Amino acid sequence: MTKTTSTDAAERILVALDVPDAERAAALADTLHGLVGGYKVGKELFTSAGPDVVRRLVDRGERVFLDLKYHDIPNTVAGAVRAATRLGVWMVDVHASGGAAMMRAAREAADEAAAASGRTRPLVVAVTVLTSLDAAALDAVGVPGSPLDQVLRLATLARESGLDGVVASPLETTAIRAACGDDFVIVTPGIRGGSASTGSDDQQRTSTPAGALEAGSSYLVIGRPIVRAPEPAAAARDIADEVRRGR
Ligand code: C5P
Repeated sequence: MTKTTSTDAAERILVALDVPDAERAAALADTLHGLVGGYKVGKELFTSAGPDVVRRLVDRGERVFLDLKYHDIPNTVAGAVRAATRLGVWMVDVHASGGAAMMRAAREAADEAAAASGRTRPLVVAVTVLTSLDAAALDAVGVPGSPLDQVLRLATLARESGLDGVVASPLETTAIRAACGDDFVIVTPGIRGGSASTGSDDQQRTSTPAGALEAGSSYLVIGRPIVRAPEPAAAARDIADEVRRGR
């Protein structure tokens, strides 16, 4: 089993700031500063608090994964990725089902906006198949066959379109790693068990933190096991320790 150095362990943990307002997000970022590798700002927080919440995190030197899952025509997605790049985000995502031209436009927009603004280019990753969709739900929207086949098709298309990686469930990680190679970034939500335990749970396809990394995940997205823990800093430390130990 691969053991991870202490720096690596913490850096691979991205905390989902699934909180309703900027004050709570800032308080969590204060508490967790230096203990985790970055923060995921998703639709709830961004819709309520706007780009300022991202700016505040970036200004404090934090890595921000802006998880807005862009899905639109190439020109529109390119504009959104340019704006995200200028904000200084570290990672941004799009839906791979938006197609190759859209993903290429996203990557080119990130390259151009980074060069023009002097920012580092954000990693651009793709959502393949939402983990809430099972085979029957996919069939109903005109995608027959197994969800994993569709995940691998879209992950391969994302790589060929110049994207850096994908967001994927723990159960898909091994197959994506085999299909897309060692350099492909795999971001994995659905982390549970081990030290990442929580009371209420709607995640179905889960893995422990160490298990996900062992399967080939590059970064773990962890929300409630840290955010809703009685002591978020202690929870983050426990998870990093578990990853370090390799179990
Ligand atoms: O609280 P929890 O650890 O389940 O949070 C996981 C985060 O990852 C949430 O922000 C959730 O929206 C997101 N996510 C997910 N499953 C996906 C994609 C994103 O849980 N397939």
